[in-house]
Amino acid sequence: MTLNDQERSSGRPPRHGRLLDQVVVITGGASGIGKEIALAFAREGAKVAIADLNEQAAQATAAEIDSSFQRALGVAMNVASETEVDAGMARVVETFGRLDILISNAGVQIVAPVVDLKFEDWKKLLAIHLDGAFLTTRAALRQMNAQKRGSIIYMGSVHSKEASALKAPYVTAKHGLIGLAKVVAKEGAAHGVRANVICPGYVRTPLVEKQIPEQARELGISEADVVKTVMLKETIDGEFTTTEDVAEVAVFLATFPSLALTGQSVVVSHGWFMQ
Ligand code: NAD
Repeated sequence: MTLNDQERSSGRPPRHGRLLDQVVVITGGASGIGKEIALAFAREGAKVAIADLNEQAAQATAAEIDSSFQRALGVAMNVASETEVDAGMARVVETFGRLDILISNAGVQIVAPVVDLKFEDWKKLLAIHLDGAFLTTRAALRQMNAQKRGSIIYMGSVHSKEASALKAPYVTAKHGLIGLAKVVAKEGAAHGVRANVICPGYVRTPLVEKQIPEQARELGISEADVVKTVMLKETIDGEFTTTEDVAEVAVFLATFPSLALTGQSVVVSHGWFMQ
């Protein structure tokens, strides 16, 4: 979903919205799920920082939200780099004056059976998902604790709860995010900071489009069968989850008014996984 001309503010402050003037950083916000969340949060009146490895795409997404860059900011950031995360998060606080919400969303997928998995691929995936979540959380907490308020949302997956063949590092990392969220929920409580995880089923983003031919090759089946018998087999209706579905959950978690909802994981997967 894109913004219409009225919603695209060009610097004109919106007058309403459930996230009016709240400042959000979204890692991996230049594509797929992260981009949809950026657009949804902007529609709700938030000031949005898009932190992404792909600087050009981050700037383009920021420009799509606000071409005057008063309410949107593109930040070049490799979430696995301590110096880039600390510098990028400091730039967001300098630009917008505060930080209310972190969406730790940047991620990649690497598909291989454990027996063939390269150690460097294992380390690369864990660094992006887990080091990235830790580094952005630590930087966000420095500001949120001082403000006595904040909400941190991790992009988990049904793979935070379930396993699939060929995805050992991804399943390991996504399970790990639930542990991190629970610790941050406990430590954050005294500072008014909540931490939760969204666990989507398969969403047709570039990350998933890339996997369809890869899995077809690894499993020796057609691409149509990867979709039907691997990705959507356990859903209640054979449907993909959409980026809009995930953004809706992110708005719900970010706008929840009290510490009652913290340390939780919300699964949005057409019933693939039921808690
Ligand atoms: P995507 O490929 O469309 O977007 C990922 C974004 O992350 C890209 O803009 C990319 O440039 C950025 N990125 C990658 N490595 C980075 C790094 N080191 N530092 C900063 N940015 C980096 O993928 P997506 O499907 O939107 O995935 C977003 C998140 O959602 C991931 O954490 C993914 O694991 C999770 N997820 C996706 C699905 C799905 O089916 N698509 C399901 C469950 C969870």
